[in-house]
Amino acid sequence: MSDPWKHRSSKMLCQTCMWYVAKENERGFTGLGRCRKSNPTMNGYPVVFPTDWCGCHKLDEGKIGGVVNEDKS
Ligand code: SF4
Repeated sequence: MSDPWKHRSSKMLCQTCMWYVAKENERGFTGLGRCRKSNPTMNGYPVVFPTDWCGCHKLDEGKIGGVVNEDKS
């Protein structure tokens, strides 16, 4: 029996979410990001993979098409 929920979340990944901010170090982007949906805790904003997802996803059209690490400032 096939899973009807498979790939259901593929359009709501962190990498296209307006709350996702890619982490960068001196060598470039790390492949991780932080979720800024809520205020930070003592450990900072939650660390997420670009391929994570949650029900609070809010689409940022500027991040569609793989432009996930571009600084818009
Ligand atoms: S955890 Fe949810 S709200 Fe945070 S960046 Fe990912 S999809 Fe967006």
